[in-house]
Amino acid sequence: MANTIEVKVPDIGDFSDVPVIEILVSVGDTVTKEQGLATLESDKATLEVPSSAAGVVKEIKVKLGDKVSEGSLVVVLEAEGQAAAEAPKAAAPAQAETPKVEQKAEAPKAAAPAPSQPAAASGPVEVKVPDIGDFSDVPVIEILVSVGDTVSKEQGLVTLESDKATLEVPSSAAGKVKEIKVKIGDKVNQGDLVVVLEGEGGQASAEAAPSASAPTPAPAPAQTPRSGPSAADAPPAPKAAAGTGKPADIECRMVVLGSGPGGYTAAFRAADVGLDTVLIERYASLGGVCLNVGCIPSKALLHSAAVIDEVAHAGDFGVDFGKPKINLDKLREYKEKVVGSLTKGLSGMAKQRKVRVVQGTGVFVSPNEIEITGEDGKTQLLRFEQCIIAAGSQAVKLPNFPWDDKRVMDSTDALELAEVPKKLLVVGGGIIGLEMATVYRALGSEVTVVEFMDQLMPGADKDLVKPLADRLKKQGVIVHLKTKASGVTAEKKGITVTFESATEGQKPELESGTWDRVLVAVGRSPNGKKIGVDKAGVQVTDRGFIPVDTQMRTNVPHIFAIGDIVGNPMLAHKATHEGKLAAEVAAGEKKEWVARVIPSVAYTDPEIAWVGVTETEAKAKGLKVGVAKFPWAASGRAIGIGRTEGFTKLIFDEATHRVIGGGIVGVHAGDLLAEIGLAIEMGAEAEDIGHTIHAHPTLSESVAMAAEVYDGTITDLYIPKKK
Ligand SMILES: Cc1cc2nc3c(=O)[nH]c(=O)nc-3n(C[C@H](O)[C@H](O)[C@H](O)COP(=O)(O)OP(=O)(O)OC[C@H]3O[C@@H](n4cnc5c(N)ncnc54)[C@H](O)[C@@H]3O)c2cc1C
Repeated sequence: MANTIEVKVPDIGDFSDVPVIEILVSVGDTVTKEQGLATLESDKATLEVPSSAAGVVKEIKVKLGDKVSEGSLVVVLEAEGQAAAEAPKAAAPAQAETPKVEQKAEAPKAAAPAPSQPAAASGPVEVKVPDIGDFSDVPVIEILVSVGDTVSKEQGLVTLESDKATLEVPSSAAGKVKEIKVKIGDKVNQGDLVVVLEGEGGQASAEAAPSASAPTPAPAPAQTPRSGPSAADAPPAPKAAAGTGKPADIECRMVVLGSGPGGYTAAFRAADVGLDTVLIERYASLGGVCLNVGCIPSKALLHSAAVIDEVAHAGDFGVDFGKPKINLDKLREYKEKVVGSLTKGLSGMAKQRKVRVVQGTGVFVSPNEIEITGEDGKTQLLRFEQCIIAAGSQAVKLPNFPWDDKRVMDSTDALELAEVPKKLLVVGGGIIGLEMATVYRALGSEVTVVEFMDQLMPGADKDLVKPLADRLKKQGVIVHLKTKASGVTAEKKGITVTFESATEGQKPELESGTWDRVLVAVGRSPNGKKIGVDKAGVQVTDRGFIPVDTQMRTNVPHIFAIGDIVGNPMLAHKATHEGKLAAEVAAGEKKEWVARVIPSVAYTDPEIAWVGVTETEAKAKGLKVGVAKFPWAASGRAIGIGRTEGFTKLIFDEATHRVIGGGIVGVHAGDLLAEIGLAIEMGAEAEDIGHTIHAHPTLSESVAMAAEVYDGTITDLYIPKKK
């Protein structure tokens, strides 16, 4: 005989009156035990109501928009020969494969136009594990702070991971970490002491732990992306200057200083969410470094380099072209056309959004005023309610180089393509140096690269770099590692450079040489000390970075900062992501940084791309990981295009089998990387990737195959079983 089973909302911690946002079944459906029946969404988390038994759906007792709490009736089931079940115990409904509780982009505090400083505690504050629903004995898998760190209210202190969900214990107050009372592997419960903070004055010590920390679906964070300098790394906040009291030439709700990828994105998003916005840019062309002298022109030139190389090898498959003739003026024109179409597009979009663009150099004169000096020397005073600083960075100019000699170049000069030097020295074997080496080598220069560290592209795993290093060698690019340029003289015959070994007391591989041109690509420095932020009371580190919190707010609550100026990695996609976030928070949206990883790509040939935890990092941190590689020599597509030197590598958390990092070397590695980034953000396990059907024959199959290598289910390779 059929039993009737009432499925009710289980214990959902502190949540109540939670709206139903999705009904996952229909009357007549057969459901399994634990299958999700309806989705609830509070402002903090998304939860599924699981079925307490297997059966057939007889009645659905809720509709979209209904608000439910623990015990509310959701579905009536008819089950064969089963006892009626009450609501299941677990708060976090669980199916083995899909995390069911998702963190929403929830800001720790409301973001009103000019909110007050984050609350700080005065005496010692004990931060305890908050109400975590039915979870108990949950292991600590990551300590997110160190003794001495300054933390803001709601900042995550430690990460707990049960078999169902990952949770962060948020700080109940702002303060300095005095003691950490737990270690990785400890098992904790609600009320357990986690951290003792030293208050920084302001509010009374925080009483209880914050109410609820929404569990997050993914595994141990693959990296801490908001890893820029904190306020503790900077000298104390300067005393802000008083307002000028002068009438303003321009007034606005929001001003964005700098129009790079961070700045224009912030300005456009601010306008889209209803803020009256001004964008200040010192140059006539919008788009900053990325569009004008960075990502875009370098990729336009790299495209021509790739074509030159491809054509040179076409003979291998029976198609012969003649030696290429390089028309440098036309190539330069092409690059400028690419840049122009994008920067003009930005000006058009600014107009469409009614963002007022003001050309000139902006400098803060008080916390609500910026003085803008135009090219003609005339100044205008702009008064604002809120500001997003997006003034970016500039190339580091090594001090002992003769920069007034045009044969000594930074990346901006190199992109101008004044000539193709017979011999080019590239100082710095990082991404920018190697991309430019790739361009000039293809155009015909004899290229030498010197790098201070013991590998090219420090930061990427060595195995990913090897296929590139091998190819460069084959192409005749000379590389000297652990080598430092020490002396430089400009002579008529060329630029003569002497070298030292990076290892003290050792002879350098190369002692000296003379080159027609020298490109210095040793990094970029932030512009934080060049825009008068002290007058606004904004903290800045000695290196020129502006510390921000997870909402991109500086120590002055109505001033935000984004992009290269707030820290590494200095990448355009990080800047745009931060720009959107800052604009939305400024407009009052409850958001904060939740991305787990930021991808890195070198557009060399082959490309090198990586995201999340690297193998080197995993080793250094003693993480228990599994590494799986799929060599492109076994990829039909890679064989077809004659580029089998690549491989795809995935790094898994051994405990959860979730992917926490990955790297690809090979053609189009940068495009292929996105899938790994998404997998990390979604908490995908090896099986999830392997079970996703990838089109054949594509290079993207290599990602699924690497997952299958980890799972031991690969059929495109033969891997002998371990005895
Ligand atoms: C050769 C090269 C290649 C690169 N390739 C890539 C790539 O492929 N992918 C990638 O992700 N990143 C790449 N980058 C890095 C990328 O360009 C930067 O990370 C990105 O531009 C940073 O954006 P941003 O908005 O923070 O600042 P920026 O792009 O530096 O923009 C800052 C803007 O602020 C303006 N400004 C500064 N001070 C003032 C002032 N006082 N008043 C008015 N305006 C001011 C500047 O003129 C500039 O327009 C590359 C960089 C270089 C140099």
